[in-house]
This record gives sequence, structure tokens and C-alpha cells, in this order.
Amino acid sequence: MPTLKDVLSARTREGELYDRQDNGWVHCYACGHDCKIPDGALGVCKVRFNQGGRLMVPWGYTGGVQCDPVEKKPFFHAHPGALAYSFGMLGCDLHCGYCQNWVTSQALRDSSAVAPPIDTTPEKLVRDAVRQGAKVLVSTYNEPLITGEWAVAIFKEAREAGLMTAFVSNGNGTPRALEYLRPWIDLYKVDLKSFDDRHYRELGGRLQPILNTIRQLHDMQVWVEIVTLLISGFNDSDDELSKLTEFIASVSPDIPWHVTAFHADYKMRDPANTTPAMLRHAAAIGKRAGLRFVYAGNLPGLVGNLENTYCPGCQEMLVERYGYLIQGYHLTSEGACPSCGIHIPGRWGPGFEGQRISRPFLPGTRRLSVLSGF
Ligand code: SF4
Repeated sequence: MPTLKDVLSARTREGELYDRQDNGWVHCYACGHDCKIPDGALGVCKVRFNQGGRLMVPWGYTGGVQCDPVEKKPFFHAHPGALAYSFGMLGCDLHCGYCQNWVTSQALRDSSAVAPPIDTTPEKLVRDAVRQGAKVLVSTYNEPLITGEWAVAIFKEAREAGLMTAFVSNGNGTPRALEYLRPWIDLYKVDLKSFDDRHYRELGGRLQPILNTIRQLHDMQVWVEIVTLLISGFNDSDDELSKLTEFIASVSPDIPWHVTAFHADYKMRDPANTTPAMLRHAAAIGKRAGLRFVYAGNLPGLVGNLENTYCPGCQEMLVERYGYLIQGYHLTSEGACPSCGIHIPGRWGPGFEGQRISRPFLPGTRRLSVLSGF
């Protein structure tokens, strides 16, 4: 019986994000690991490999699809209430013990993570997204940087169909990989997990490539929102949160920062679940650092006004939320505050098009999508 590795190895094609080297090795620059890979070997992510001096990369399948509110990604400054059609592949370049998508991200590292691939094409995925009424197509669940060529193939098709495109990513990018994505990507969520390089090394990465990615994306005018999952004893010291949020503010105080609550998952079961008070405390640190849009996520109704968007000029409420549900939308058609006229940074439509769902979505609820044409 073929292993999952065998099954995935058959679903590949030659990649673009690599250089050939004279000795038959390849240099993959799709993510910050910058792997130099000898013939017959795998990269750190275990889904890209050197076959006869060519870098083979994942192609032609998905590990799962789902249509959710764009707020769930989370993007709070991009067409509130719109639907985001998410697709994932398998594998990751990090191995976070608390991963909430471990069934797909760790499928190649952990035999208990079973997520068989479903064969598909960019055309089928985009057709399904349009059929479900999505406005944004999102590469997520696994780390999209390691499957960037496949994402771009889908994004080209999505643009043809009038959809926006997005990555939900750990941000472990490289300058060349981000340049490759730039023409095809509108929104980018970076998971800034810590501001301590030692912590990043525990997760299998380094801090600096993630910081470089955030700065480069902002310079490239891709819309960026940042999430930090607050974990007691791991990344929640005042000192670390101050440095983390001061860094974001140094790139731009207009970048939204979402601080979200940890719950025990996968291999990280010791830290206590994050409380609303811990989220509020972290949010206050972010505001002190100068960030103008700070949100506390995934504990709906328990974090005071930290789910809403307020005008940084006059404090007028602009978008009111409960979980992923939009309860009020007051921006002008130009994306400005109706009270003082300040432009609010983001990717706003000419108006609120209504919540594109049939029932409220709350964190933790799941609705599996049926992919047409399978
Ligand atoms: S995507 Fe990253 S981990 Fe995978 S082979 Fe390329 S550089 Fe290495």
C-alpha cells in the first residue's frame, strides 16, 4: 500500500522558486529555510524534493476546502462580511506543537495526522469558489509559501474570475519568493508567533525572516494583517509583547494586530487556556506601542470593544462585530470615517454587501465545503 509520501510524490511538477547548482544540488528559496538539497533528498518541509537536479513541488491536489467569513482568516480590513474560500495542501516548514491545523500541516511528519489529498485543478477550485459566492480565495491550512507555485496558478485563475487572493501564512518568506507572489496576491496574514528567536527555533524557524517578510509585504503594498496567538508562559511577557508590537508599529501603525486566545491543541497541552483578561492586557500593550487597530479574537462577546473597528481620529465606531458576525458597518463608500472623514486603511468595497452567510459563524464552528466536480 503506498504511503502518504508516495501519494504526494506523484502529485508534483517542476517548481519555479529554485536555482540549479553545478553539483546537481538545487537551492530552493520558497521559504526562509533556503534549503540546498542534494539529488534524491527532501527539503525541510518534506514536500519539495530534488529529482535528478530538478526541484519537484506539490501540484494538482488540495488537502481540504472550506468557505468562511473573511473575518475568520482573520482579515478585518478587507470587505467585511464577505466570504473567503480557503484551500489547503499538505505539509509545513515549521512544526509548532500547538498547531490548530496539524492534520494537514504535519501530515508528512506525524503518522497520526491523516489527510489524504483530493485531486483538483485551478479551474475547478475557482469555479467552486464562485459557485459558493466567495469574494476572496485563500491559500491556508498548511504553509502556503512551500506550495507557492500551485497557489499562483490558482490565483491567476481567480483574478480572471474577479476574485481577490490571500495567503494565511507563518511569514517565513524570502525576498525572491515574495516578489514572485507580488503580482498575484492582495491580502497577506502573517502569524507572528513570538518576538524571541529562541522560541522560533523551538518551532523550527528563525525570527528575522518573518520580520523581513512583514516589512517587505508592507513596502510592496500588499494588505497585511498580523496575528499573535497568546500562549501563557511562551510569548505573553510584557517585555516580549512590547517589542513585538513596537516592531509592527515601526513598519506601520496602520497594520491591524489580532491577539487571539490559545486553547490546548496537538502536542502543547500544558499552558492554561488564554483568558479574556490576558487578551485585554496584551491589546493594551499593543495600543501603547502606537498600533491604531488592535483586535482581540476568538472569544466573542468577552473582550469588550476589542472586536470592533474605531476611527483612530474621532473614535467613531466604524465596524461592529460579534465573533465573525458583522453587526454594524458605517464606513463611507471611499472607506473613510463618516464623522471626521479620515481614510481608514484597508481594502474596502463601495459599501457593505451584507453578511454572506446563512447562519452566524463563531470560532470553533466548522462547515465543510463540497467541492463541485469531484
Ligand atoms: S519550501 Fe522551504 S523548507 Fe521546503 S524545500 Fe524550499 S526552502 Fe526548504
